Amino acid sequence: MTRLDSQPWMSAPQTQKLMAALGEARFVGGAVRNALLGKPVVDVDIATPLTPDKVQQKLTAAGIRAVPTGIDHGTITAVVDGKPFEVTTLRRDVETDGRHAVVTFTTDWAEDARRRDFTMNALYADASGAVLDVVGGVEDMKAGRVRFVGDAATRIREDYLRILRLFRFHAWYGRGEIDAAALQAAAAEKAGIAKLSGERIAKEMLRLLEAAAPASVLRQMAASGILAEVLPDLLDIARLERLAEIDAANFFTPDAVLRLAALLPHDTRVAAQVSDRWKLSNAVRERLEDIAGSTEKIVSYLSIREVRKLLYRLGPQPFKDRLFLKWAEDPRAAMQWRALLAMADAWTRPRFPLTGRDVKQAGVPEGPLVGQVLGEVEAWWIDSDFTDDEFSLAERLKAVVQAVVY
Ligand code: ATP
Ligand code: MG
Repeated sequence: MTRLDSQPWMSAPQTQKLMAALGEARFVGGAVRNALLGKPVVDVDIATPLTPDKVQQKLTAAGIRAVPTGIDHGTITAVVDGKPFEVTTLRRDVETDGRHAVVTFTTDWAEDARRRDFTMNALYADASGAVLDVVGGVEDMKAGRVRFVGDAATRIREDYLRILRLFRFHAWYGRGEIDAAALQAAAAEKAGIAKLSGERIAKEMLRLLEAAAPASVLRQMAASGILAEVLPDLLDIARLERLAEIDAANFFTPDAVLRLAALLPHDTRVAAQVSDRWKLSNAVRERLEDIAGSTEKIVSYLSIREVRKLLYRLGPQPFKDRLFLKWAEDPRAAMQWRALLAMADAWTRPRFPLTGRDVKQAGVPEGPLVGQVLGEVEAWWIDSDFTDDEFSLAERLKAVVQAVVY
């Protein structure tokens, strides 16, 4: 029998307290899969034969906060000393329409395993680490096989998001070719993706893009016509691939939005279109549109002075976004790009020493002229490489005022 070695998240006092409070419960999904693979575990999900009412009762009795976050499908979030866990009652999906499911609760672990998407995601472990595997998930996981539980086409028709999840999990945990039956079913059912909400598409696609090396999976999605269901044409998979290689070589944490930006063409309308379909937040949309519309000349041989100027004009994040995409377009200059990145990280914004008060004192009447003069002097100050020479600033101010007011 497979057994999990002791895991820090298992022995954590919050986990122990929760498992003791529930009694009948097992860890499930990503936590078990990743622990068996020796990969980091982010969130810990728990499955239980107890009904949601009973879960709520037991949590309350143990002084654990219970938040009914997904009560319709049996999920309660238990917050134990600040740490959240999703506790979901074992269930079977009775009605599906390709997007949502109507569920009934069960006490049968095998039934719960059969409603999960992939065999490697249908693994359970009890508080002692004993693994329950009713679908052959351990073997598939070890072999890097992302295999549907049951018939691929049937499972996809229940929830078309599983098409995207197939590629997402293959990018993260797959080895070799994508399961042929799964790939064929995904391609045949791809039109169903149109039914999915933008939020669900975005979540899966951004997770996919965060994989260490997502390009080959994206190429397969493109070849099977699936990528066109979620993204426009003219994608630059090669640029994304180089960005992923840069991340890997430098131990950078993958940035899903930046990777999406690398994939999209240099066209703000396309960035806007993707933001609409994926229902991206305003902050993310603005970042994508900013990158797609950028016009600055950013090269690996920028001088320190030019870098300071760009940083001041753009701000560090937009500068770095541009830098990374240019780096991906010209990866041979890695050393120079790294130096520019270090400058951006070490930069602190110089403060323009003049204010409207100084301008008024120099003889400009209250009104729009004040801002105009200030802007003129600031532009000169930026060109001076942010001089801190007060005398020359005052001289410049005087000269600008002369020209503008009189
Ligand atoms: P990650 O580490 O990326 O979060 P995960 O396995 O925890 O991986 P989630 O998307 O968080 O993935 O889903 C948790 C579990 O719920 C999965 O392991 C799977 O068992 C089940 N699951 C989630 N979404 C679906 C779905 N659309 N269809 C079937 N089962 C699903
Ligand atoms: Mg998860």
